[in-house]
Amino acid sequence: MNMKTKTELLGMGVKELEDYMESIGEPKYRGRQVHKWIYKKAVSSFYDMSDISRDLRNKLDDCAHISIPRVLKQRASIDGTRKFLMELEDKKRIESVVIPHHENKNTRYTLCLSTQVGCPVGCAFCATGNSGFQRNLEAYEITGQFLASQRELQKRLKSNESELITNVVYMGMGEPMFNYDQVIESIYILNDPKGVNIGQRHITISTAGDVKGINRLARDNLQVVLAISLHACTNELRDTLIPLNRKYPLEELIKAVKQYISLTNRRVTFEYLLLDGVNNSKKDAEMLTKLVKPLLANINLIPYNEIDGLEFKQPSPQQVQQFYQYLLDAGVGVTLRGEKGADIEAACGQLRAEYKNNR
Ligand code: SAH
Ligand code: SF4
Repeated sequence: MNMKTKTELLGMGVKELEDYMESIGEPKYRGRQVHKWIYKKAVSSFYDMSDISRDLRNKLDDCAHISIPRVLKQRASIDGTRKFLMELEDKKRIESVVIPHHENKNTRYTLCLSTQVGCPVGCAFCATGNSGFQRNLEAYEITGQFLASQRELQKRLKSNESELITNVVYMGMGEPMFNYDQVIESIYILNDPKGVNIGQRHITISTAGDVKGINRLARDNLQVVLAISLHACTNELRDTLIPLNRKYPLEELIKAVKQYISLTNRRVTFEYLLLDGVNNSKKDAEMLTKLVKPLLANINLIPYNEIDGLEFKQPSPQQVQQFYQYLLDAGVGVTLRGEKGADIEAACGQLRAEYKNNR
């Protein structure tokens, strides 16, 4: 039997795995066992499932597989951030990043997931956007990044804690709204209390401004956090930074965000990249305040991470501070994102993987 005809078990919940076992003439409880191996232990080989008989292992290996991405390489930053290069079944490569934060005395991680191989939006400042688009990820491939990252983290930290990763952000490679159905399905898989058990409130979806996706998310009324990559307050500038703005100009985007807020009553985050001499003047801060202050929203300022071959520059720390202070003084909810993982090119927009030489 070749790979294509094998059943993918990754992504199935308890019920589906029980049904699957019945469909191949096995008792239901086998489904619960396999479920535990997949979601609690991130095991992808049936031969590592010690409570399953040899005969059943052989049988499962013939008719099913569990495609947790393979971690080919990882880099660790001095601040604890880790970037994983992962390989999918078709040899395409993606990257996922874990970023540490401290909760009481424990170190916990936020995982940044990819949703596509490359990205079709092509933002001028983004490494992913500058390296083309190959394909959407399946829901199980998105979830698989979680399992692979958790397993690697446990290995490296010599920990068997199952709750090292507490938050998930869809801010890796790709535009999540262009792969909406698979992204939402992956959220439900991550949510499953019997499995990975990440609450929706701990999940953020970031979009470059896809109005259709924002409207769908408003209707679907998930508890996730919506983040909008704003980066500019005039269409003239935003057109040059984020080509999607030509399809959904600022007026339409803001209208959709207002509608989202009124339908869901949920606070939205605007991400604002600080690009030296491009969007970080006092005038820009004024326009940003005017746009965001009336809304139920926060601003997350991100100092640009410079990319080899692109002309954009990060403003000086003083300029960053000034911009931040302006918004604070104006009474806008604002946070300044620390630059984690910049030394290993694991910061936002620096993900381009090494899949280029693998087409
Ligand atoms: N495609 C989605 C999500 C992935 S990008 C989006 O654009 O929102 C996640 C965030 O990283 C976005 O806000 C994006 O604008 C930002 N980003 C891209 N390149 C960056 C860079 N070089 N430095 C800092 N942030 C960057
Ligand atoms: Fe795609 Fe987001 Fe990068 Fe733009 S910033 S190219 S939408 S990943």
